[in-house]
Amino acid sequence: MNTKGVFVFMMIQRAQEILNQTFGYHEFRENQKEVIEHVINKKDGFVLMPTGGGKSLCFQIPALLFEGVTIVVSPLISLMKDQVQALRANGVNAAYINSSLDSIEEIAIMHEAAENKLKLLYLSPEKLLSIAENQISKLNVSLIAIDEAHCISMWGHDFRPEYTKMKAIRKLFSHVPFMALTATADKITRGDIINQLALKECKTFISSFNRENLSIEVKRQVPKKEKTQQIVNFITKRRNESGIIYCLSRKNTEELANTLNSHGIRAGFYHAGMNSEDRAITQEQFINDDLKIIVATIAFGMGIDKSNVRWIIHNNLPKNIEGYYQEIGRAGRDGLPSETILYYSYKDLILLRKFAEDSGQADMQIEKLKRIQQFVEATSCRRKILLAYFNEHLEKDCGNCDVCLNPPKFFDGTIIAQIALSAMYRLNQKVSANTLINVLRGSRNQEIISNKYDTIKTYGKGAKYSFFEWQNYIIQLVNVGVIEIDYQNANQLKITDFGLRVLKSESTINLTVAEKIDKTIATPRAKKSIVRQFDNMNKSLFDALKNLRQEIAKEERVPAYIVFSDKSLKEMASALPQTKEEFMQISGVGNQKLERFFEPFSKCIAENK
Ligand code: ADP
Ligand code: ZN
Repeated sequence: MNTKGVFVFMMIQRAQEILNQTFGYHEFRENQKEVIEHVINKKDGFVLMPTGGGKSLCFQIPALLFEGVTIVVSPLISLMKDQVQALRANGVNAAYINSSLDSIEEIAIMHEAAENKLKLLYLSPEKLLSIAENQISKLNVSLIAIDEAHCISMWGHDFRPEYTKMKAIRKLFSHVPFMALTATADKITRGDIINQLALKECKTFISSFNRENLSIEVKRQVPKKEKTQQIVNFITKRRNESGIIYCLSRKNTEELANTLNSHGIRAGFYHAGMNSEDRAITQEQFINDDLKIIVATIAFGMGIDKSNVRWIIHNNLPKNIEGYYQEIGRAGRDGLPSETILYYSYKDLILLRKFAEDSGQADMQIEKLKRIQQFVEATSCRRKILLAYFNEHLEKDCGNCDVCLNPPKFFDGTIIAQIALSAMYRLNQKVSANTLINVLRGSRNQEIISNKYDTIKTYGKGAKYSFFEWQNYIIQLVNVGVIEIDYQNANQLKITDFGLRVLKSESTINLTVAEKIDKTIATPRAKKSIVRQFDNMNKSLFDALKNLRQEIAKEERVPAYIVFSDKSLKEMASALPQTKEEFMQISGVGNQKLERFFEPFSKCIAENK
């Protein structure tokens, strides 16, 4: 080995030590070591990992390996605070500067940085731009990490204009290695990021997007009341667990949170229409486990690294797969089994289509909406479909999604299609889904009577199916291409060419049996192999450890998971460590936490085991 080879080898050994002793982890996750090695060679890198995949260590460990300070750019204030707290809890000197600080605090931090005492400095893009030339360039900057790098690209799903100015930063720090990180970027976006940041000798590291510990379930067309009841039941069975419910509208979040509260379930709501103080309080309560359940619009959860979120429910169809995958990714960051459920309805589809059309990027948004429609309508393993979207091929069916666990039952749906199509034909293809269903079911409402729809031949021919079953079938008919929704024209239903062939009995189609609403289908639970890890866990000890964690967190004014993750506590409750050596074996126990927490936790274990 030449000198450089020896140097790199030693640095990697040191990286492993930092992983163990500072962060308390035993093995690198996929690509972490490779990324770190690449940075050690002072080259630029592009890191694509799913949410919860472990992006932060990719720059945090190099930050500790190098002399000088690592600059981390992030658009999310809550994330900065979170990561800085977590680093400090592990004895790493880190700080952030953003709009939440006053100028005195800011000066103090810059002073520390100038004295070479800070290892990591987190900045918002605006802040970095404003102090780059006069202040940051005077520091010994070892690495610049750009988190949420997809924000730089118009092609990404969360474009932020202030990010595009990062080009100037690249010029100013041309000798410093850059690392761009993101959880969501398709090929075009990736190329665009590399281009815009002018990354040199850039290597792209893509980790598997498969999050095995998340179960996936989709439920179609569940009536609102029933949906609420299902959600109440679901939560009631998981009393001490933390979860997030995503809704499309602000009003919905408040409504659903109120409903849950009226069922004795404490839940908060969160949306962009609240003032920033209320939002901060709610988020803080959630992070600190004082509030276990949040009903939110998608604004919530960005950049929260709360590791013990155990479930995610989508109360409505999300607008694209990227967003959906990021949102469910907020569950189970600690690697423990976690559940996700998505409810979607015909109404969501109409609403999202309208959003897409008004978005200013209609073609792209509509295309993305179609892809998520294909996902929710899937009749084969859902995880395979999700991963295929991220260009990843899964060999076997996952066994942990609703399709794998309850394969859909197909039947020849040609007759159902023909009934609907012939009614549409007789109604001159001028009615929306609701009216069509009312005609099919023989309703006598005013619209039907005044338009004399009750005189057409197919009136009442579909009475044996409930309204919701019909909605379910109509969504399926849209998705198999028999019916089209004319979104420009009051969402009237139109017969496609294929539909015409089905109507004339020249083609047949298969449908899946619409779920009877009262039927409770088996919820996917995490795979056995994942659960078994903690089979011998002492549950009452786990609760005692959680209480201790909460006390310490309150004292130190940090979120509970900054003290220890659920995973760490579960390992303690299974392995019952009593010596310092044993305690050090627990995932998440580094030197600093050993020093500070060995005594109270080992005492708690001795008393409760
Ligand atoms: P991302 O930023 O990619 O969403 P994070 O960097 O926040 O993910 O990491 C997710 C969680 O996994 C964090 O709690 C982190 O401490 C933990 N983690 C990261 N790397 C490892 C590892 N090698 N071993 C164990 N846990 C890890
Ligand atoms: Zn599956």
